[in-house]
Amino acid sequence: MQREDVLRLLFRMPLNELLTKADAVRHTALGEHVFVRGLIEFSNSCVCGCRYCGLRRANTTVRRYRLAASEIIASARQAVMAGADTVVLQSGEDPSQNVRELASVIEGIKNHCRVAVTLSIGEHTREAYAVWRAAGADRFLIRHETADADLYAALHPGRSLQQRLRCLRTLQDLGYAVGTGFIVGLPGQRPGTLADDILLARKLNVDMCGIGPFIPQADTPLGGEPHGSVELTLRALAVTRLALPQAHLPATTALATLAPVHGQRDGLRAGGNVLMPGFTPADCRTAYNIYDDKRRVGMTEARAIIKAAGRTHALPPGDASCSMSPKVCACT
Ligand code: SAH
Repeated sequence: MQREDVLRLLFRMPLNELLTKADAVRHTALGEHVFVRGLIEFSNSCVCGCRYCGLRRANTTVRRYRLAASEIIASARQAVMAGADTVVLQSGEDPSQNVRELASVIEGIKNHCRVAVTLSIGEHTREAYAVWRAAGADRFLIRHETADADLYAALHPGRSLQQRLRCLRTLQDLGYAVGTGFIVGLPGQRPGTLADDILLARKLNVDMCGIGPFIPQADTPLGGEPHGSVELTLRALAVTRLALPQAHLPATTALATLAPVHGQRDGLRAGGNVLMPGFTPADCRTAYNIYDDKRRVGMTEARAIIKAAGRTHALPPGDASCSMSPKVCACT
């Protein structure tokens, strides 16, 4: 796949043709099953200055929180009982994160639930990544955000794309299944950069790739900028499916935020095969405000979206909040 091919698919192929093609590749490579990842946003403490993100350190309007180990494990159990096949622990980037403490949370989840544990906690040392891997973490999401190194540097003060990619490679080296991802419609993004984003994900040969539109957050320097395009996000998702047939690609919550009725259904029809409903305790959800009006997608919504897309899943029937899963053992 050459850059020119990616650009043609992204910008010149009729939308329906592209989506149909991506859907067919998804069907052949991965079948009809939608994987459900339970997302737990366990801390919004962050030292970064990412100019698009509401959790950036300079945003003093945020009420900062960090869940206790027991609360994270309880949320994970809840997600697994409701049918999630993976638990994703996400947070801002907090270098004061106690490495051993998070390791024992991972061990706690693995002891109680037979599910993969995914981390999405940003840049840390190889040593820390190794401790969490040894504790049982299976996967790691760390988006490259944008393949344009200059734009990356402008949007992430004190950071570089090179450093981000080094983390990705370290994680792969340590045996994590690794996911990258990028934002569509970042202020300053050139259209051609999206082709580079897709080619970079392909070059990295990642297991997962999350693609979502930029959504402004009022208390950030980019709060007045326009949001990214839903159609272009679906196009990027579809082309990524063609570039990485086997990768797990979520229909992101950011898509649902901009297109509340059909965004994620359309994402599942554009090559997506993953949903990530939220299991963050209710009193913390609004404080995890990476962008404004973040839509809350829970298990009930996930079930409805999968049905609307005509796909299958392994969720228990009925009210997800009270169904017991065989993936959770009896020790409470
Ligand atoms: N601290 C972790 C998790 C960050 S939040 C890390 O560094 O990986 C997860 C993702 O949300 C980010 O990787 C980014 O791609 C996305 N995000 C943050 N702010 C956003 C915004 N305003 N619009 C769209 N996506 C955003």
